[in-house]
This record gives sequence, structure tokens and C-alpha cells, in this order.
Amino acid sequence: MFGLGLLALVQTSFIAIPEYSKADLIGDIDPSTHRDFDKMRSKYCSKTSYLREDCYDAFKDMWAAARKDGIQLIVVSAARSRSYQKGIWNRKWLTFGGAESSRAEKILQYSSMPGTSRHHWGTDLDLNALNNEYFENGEGAKIYAWLSAHAGEYGFFQPYTAFNPYRDAGYREEKWHWSYYPIASQMQRAYRKMIGYSDLKGFMGDEYAEKLKVINNYVMGIEGPNWLAP
Ligand SMILES: [Zn+2]
Repeated sequence: MFGLGLLALVQTSFIAIPEYSKADLIGDIDPSTHRDFDKMRSKYCSKTSYLREDCYDAFKDMWAAARKDGIQLIVVSAARSRSYQKGIWNRKWLTFGGAESSRAEKILQYSSMPGTSRHHWGTDLDLNALNNEYFENGEGAKIYAWLSAHAGEYGFFQPYTAFNPYRDAGYREEKWHWSYYPIASQMQRAYRKMIGYSDLKGFMGDEYAEKLKVINNYVMGIEGPNWLAP
């Protein structure tokens, strides 16, 4: 018995925190070929979508529980690569007017600079509709109430809440964006250690990454899960 117990203890202590590469953290990946990602079944999403396996498993459980309660969750965006995000960013850079510095801040209200999106990690999802108003009335309000009450049971939380004294920088509130804490929290920690502004280059206005301190203010500027509160 003692031997088995000791073996279990030794094995447990060897379960390392997974290591993430820079490519994993800044989205230089192809989710369709990455070995840690799964393609989602079409019933879960409105277009071809990929997630990290553990996140996908948790999402499937949440989806089924929601469905039992009469709530239909649908993923409208999941994993996105840096090159995909660059397409979004550059398009907005070219169409948004104004001085460059305010332009970057304006895009950053709702869109990430390439290399800084939680969607790169395969741990984050956009659900049902990409606007807060949808979640404030009717069916959307029911969905949001369900998520607020139950997403935590499956490891999900809303990182972009309304600004408050503890969250006064970063993206505006996104009631549609949900993150899988068990993996995303580790990737965020790895990001803080491994990624610097020299890694955030190659898109229009990239000099504003450092000027606007996007790592501190946007990547780290999230609200933690309220279900983790002591
Ligand atoms: Zn999102």
C-alpha cells in the first residue's frame, strides 16, 4: 500500500505544467493540423471551427447541459491564427479613419492586435452573436443568464466584463466571449513570461503595440472568473 501511495505521489509531482511554444502563444499555428486541437462537429458551430481538445470536451458538456435547459449555444468563432487576425486588423486599419494612435485604440475596443488574441490559444469562444445588445433582451438575455449561472461549472468565464475599479483597461465588455480557464490561465501565465513587443510585429501600425502597452493593458487586462473568488 505504502509503495503504491508513494508511486502515486511521485507520479503526481511529475505532472508538469504543459509547455507552450511562442508559436502557440502568438498564434503562429494552423489549428487544422495542430496535434492538440480538434475540429468541432458542425452542430456546435456556425462555420468550421477548432478548439484545444480539453476545451472542446468541456464545451461539449456545457452545450449538452444548456440544451437540456432549453438553451441553444452556437460557436460563431473559436481558434484563430495570427495570420487570420492580421487580416482582420489590417482591414480595420485601412477602413478606420483618424490619427494612427487613436485609430489603433479604436480598433482595440473590440479587436486584438495580431499575436495578442486569446483566440490564438484555442481556449476561447465567441457564442451566438457578436454584440452585447443581443444578450440584453429576449432569447439572448436567457442565454446570457444561463451562461452567467452555469459556465463556471464547466470551467468557462467571461474575461471581458464591463469596466470596474479592478478592470479599467483593455477591451470593452464582450458578453459573447467565453474562455476556458484551466488552459487559458496557464497560457496567459506563459505569455507574460515569454512574449515581448519584439514578437508583435508584421502588421499595420505595429509600433502601437508597445506604445499602447497592449500586453499589460489588453492581454493581461481581463477580469478573472468570479467563481474563483475566495
Ligand atoms: Zn472573442
